[in-house]
Amino acid sequence: MSPTKDISIIVPVYNEASNIDELYERLLLALKEITQNYELIFINDGSQDDSLQKLKALSVANDQTFYINLSRNFGHQVAVSAGLDLSNAQTVVIIDADLQDPPELIPQLYAQHKNGFDVVYAKRVSREGETFMKKATSKLFYRILQKITSFDIPLDVGDFRLLDRKVVLALRSMPEQNKFLRGQIAWLGFKQTFIDFKREPRKHGTSGYSYGKMFSLAFDAVTGFSDKPLLLVSRLGFIISLVSFMVILFAIFSHFVLEQTITGWTSLIISSMFIGGIQLLSIGVIGEYISRISTNVKNRPLYVISDSNIETND
Ligand code: UDP
Ligand code: MG
Repeated sequence: MSPTKDISIIVPVYNEASNIDELYERLLLALKEITQNYELIFINDGSQDDSLQKLKALSVANDQTFYINLSRNFGHQVAVSAGLDLSNAQTVVIIDADLQDPPELIPQLYAQHKNGFDVVYAKRVSREGETFMKKATSKLFYRILQKITSFDIPLDVGDFRLLDRKVVLALRSMPEQNKFLRGQIAWLGFKQTFIDFKREPRKHGTSGYSYGKMFSLAFDAVTGFSDKPLLLVSRLGFIISLVSFMVILFAIFSHFVLEQTITGWTSLIISSMFIGGIQLLSIGVIGEYISRISTNVKNRPLYVISDSNIETND
C-alpha cells in the first residue's frame, strides 16, 4: 500500500500538557513551508497530566491530527515505534514534545531529503539547560557505544530526525523488543546525512527520562548492538584462570621445594574476593543478555493501544 501523505510528524508525549499548544503552533508553521498534505501523530505514553485531553481537542479541531493513547507508560522508544507503525506518509519526522528539538528545523531536514538522503538526523552542537551529569553520562555513553559496536552510530544525536518510508518499513520489520532506534537506523544503513543544531532547554515541565530509564536504554543499546561485553567476560575469565594457574604452581613449588608454607590470610582473602567479584560481574553480564533473549522469546506485543482516532484494519 503506498502512503497517502507527504510527511508524518511523530511526537511521543509523556506529561507534556504545558508544551503541546506551542509545539502544535510551531509544527504547523514549519509544515506550511513544506506541504499541506501532512499528518501529526501524537503518542500519549501513559501521561498522568491532561496531555491526552489536549491531544483529543487538537484532533477534533484539525482532521490531520491524530492521537494514539497507549494503555500505560511504555517508554519513549516504544512510543515512537507505535507512531512509526501507524504512520502513513512518504517521510516521517520524529520529534520530542518538549520543544528541545526546534520544529523550525523540519524544513531543513526535508530539504536534505529532497537532495536524495533517506535519513537526515539533527546533530546537537550544543545542549542548553541540561544538567552536567546528564551531558557527561550521555557523552560517555555515546563514546563507549562507538568503541564497542562494529558500525557507526553517530555521536551526539538523539531521535530527532527525518526518515524516508523505506527506512520506516525496514524498521517495522526489525523484530527486537528492546528498541534502540538510533542504533537500529544506523545498522540499517541507507543514505544518511545530518544538519547541526543547538539543543534548546526544555520549555515547560520536567524530563520524563529518569536515570533508571537512561540506564535501561544504555543497556539495550549495548546488548542489542554488541557482543563485546560477553567477549570481554570470557577473555577476563581466561586471563584470570591463567594467573590462578601460575599462583597454584608457585604454591606447590614453595610447599614441596622451598618447604615454607604461606601463612598469609591477606593474600587469601584478596584473591577470593577478587575472583568472587569477577564471577558475579560475569554472571551479571551474561544475565543481561539472557534476560533480553527471554523478552524476545516471549514475543509479547511491544505496546498496547487503549484508543486512537487512526483508522486501523481491525
Ligand atoms: N517520553 C515518552 N515516554 C517516556 C519518557 C519520555 O514518550 O517514558 C517523551 C517525552 O514526552 C518527550 C520525549 O519522549 O517528548 C523525550 O523525553 P524527555 O524530554 O523527558 O527526555 P530528555 O530530553 O530529558 O532526554
Ligand atoms: Mg527533553
